[in-house]
Amino acid sequence: MTARIIDGAALAARIRSEIAQRAATLTAQGIRPGLAVVLVGDDPASAVYVRNKVKDCEEAGIRSVLDRLPAQTSEQALLTRIDELNRDPSIHGILVQLPLPGHLDERLVIESIAPEKDVDGFHVSNAGALMTGSPRFRPCTPYGVMKMLEAAGVKLAGAEAVVVGRSNIVGKPQAMLLLQESATVTICHSRTRDLTEHTRRADVLIAAVGKAQMITGDMIKPGAVVIDVGMNRIPAGPNAGKLCGDVDFESASKVAGAITPVPGGVGPMTRAMLLVNTMEAAERVAGVR
Ligand code: NDP
Repeated sequence: MTARIIDGAALAARIRSEIAQRAATLTAQGIRPGLAVVLVGDDPASAVYVRNKVKDCEEAGIRSVLDRLPAQTSEQALLTRIDELNRDPSIHGILVQLPLPGHLDERLVIESIAPEKDVDGFHVSNAGALMTGSPRFRPCTPYGVMKMLEAAGVKLAGAEAVVVGRSNIVGKPQAMLLLQESATVTICHSRTRDLTEHTRRADVLIAAVGKAQMITGDMIKPGAVVIDVGMNRIPAGPNAGKLCGDVDFESASKVAGAITPVPGGVGPMTRAMLLVNTMEAAERVAGVR
């Protein structure tokens, strides 16, 4: 079997153009959607992510405000800035780029963002809303995965879904979103006894581990839908340094029924869903949602 490719880049492009239309409509009504991105320090990977987010906003007609704060910014100064953004009616979404420098308490900072502007969906009240089945903001990566499954026509009700990874930003919210669609969900992690036993039962397998090419073809049920969230670098060999996922694409794509590539799968969808969440925040303020 050769798996069908679920093209995240193409779907993300469609979503971005739909958002551009919604942003134009709302702007014409006098409310221009606005996103504030706060970057503390000069981590090079974070700087790239933030630049991309700002560029995506510009292209979609969403106003973006980039706050670059020095690495030694005090917790109080950061909280004060977030408080200003919370009160600014022209800002509908606030994103604090993670990770933060070690002296800053990430949890405290996230909890200081007004829940109705928390477009990452990491605030405990948004995590709780998701858990109790009435999500306000779905975290961008798992939200993007759900959109990909929907676009690929994957039936989730009753399906065996296995999520490998239990982080607060990917694995756990992913499991909740799948559960909400009535999949039977198993969450695996580093202490799972026999990972393959679980993954081979999956009709839908989501890999969010952070280990290059760890999920191989022999771990996959023939015909399964495989979503690769991982973003890693190949550690050694002729392709050393190249971007790769948590799934060994070569062996997996011979067994799976459908699979996402890396790059061009979940990554562009995560970016697109930040625009969706910002748009939803602005539309709520405008009373059109
Ligand atoms: P974390 O490191 O926070 O979580 C990784 C999870 O994988 C943990 O729950 C861990 O278990 C589990 N794990 C680690 N080793 C194993 C193993 N051998 N077997 C089973 N489970 C294991 O990572 P994130 O959730 O933040 O990210 C996961 C991956 O997704 C990374 O590659 C990251 O770069 C990528 N990512 C990609 C995004 C995109 O837009 N494409 C967005 C966000 C993340 P335990 O809890 O027991 O430690």
